[in-house]
Amino acid sequence: MTSPGNDAAADCLFCKIVAGDVPADVVASTERIIAFRDIDPKAPVHVLVVPREHHGDVSVLAAADPELLAEVVEVADRVAQDLADGQYRFIFNSGPRAGQSVFHVHGHVLAGTQLGWSPA
Ligand code: AMP
Repeated sequence: MTSPGNDAAADCLFCKIVAGDVPADVVASTERIIAFRDIDPKAPVHVLVVPREHHGDVSVLAAADPELLAEVVEVADRVAQDLADGQYRFIFNSGPRAGQSVFHVHGHVLAGTQLGWSPA
């Protein structure tokens, strides 16, 4: 996927949440990452783990900053341990055909129930 790069994008919703301009239910925060509850949860625990820096999708982030991607996974695991029982799914929708709708990379932590497996 092409991406707008890593400068804060003026019309990027998640850049606005990172900046504090749009409210969010924040559950974890580090120097480089913020995690907040999804506004339209698909499971009892549904948290988005978001690098503060703007990268369009996970492919871009993996190429640009693999250490930051590893940190995203660490924070996701901590959230799942803290808010659920440590059994969870962690997914990235990458590209519109995969269901990505916000083009600032984020992983979804889904937990707190028996999860189904029906991506189509
Ligand atoms: P994706 O479809 O993978 O790009 O995921 C975007 C997610 O952001 C969706 O699950 C939305 O429900 C969620 N979302 C959209 N707006 C907000 C918001 N203001 N606060 C929290 N989550 C949001």
